[in-house]
Amino acid sequence: MKQLTEKEIRAAFVNCTKGEAKRLSVPRDLAEHPWDDLDYFGWRDPQAPGRAYLVAELEGTVRALVLRSPGHTSGQARRSMCSICLTTHDGGVSLMVAPKAGKAGQQGNSVGVYLCSDLACSLYVRGKKDAGAGARLHETITLEEKIERTVANLAAFAAKVTAV
Ligand SMILES: [Zn+2]
Repeated sequence: MKQLTEKEIRAAFVNCTKGEAKRLSVPRDLAEHPWDDLDYFGWRDPQAPGRAYLVAELEGTVRALVLRSPGHTSGQARRSMCSICLTTHDGGVSLMVAPKAGKAGQQGNSVGVYLCSDLACSLYVRGKKDAGAGARLHETITLEEKIERTVANLAAFAAKVTAV
């Protein structure tokens, strides 16, 4: 994806108030991330443990999502699979919850997703980050197809968040 500015990222949030989008922490070292290898840019909030954010260009629109990670549950050490990039980690996948956009979100509705805890799906898909033995399914599809699938999974998740 193309590198985004802090302003673009803040303007892209779909599931929080404008005030929250203005205040939440966006990394200062944006230029240092490998944007060319990212299908989405995700980060954890250093000031608010259990909060994470991601931003991606989906169907031509930049969208950013606020996520909450309910924290360490007993199931966390289990081997589980990220539902976005399909990487399996020992304890490296978190259940993250996105409040729904608009009125539904204000009423407490949310959408959950199992996501790589470090939000580095793009790097696992490209083999730039290793999640250990057996982490990736042996597949015959091309890298391009895997990337397309990752983006499609993310777009489907974002669509659920913004659906009324
Ligand atoms: Zn992942």
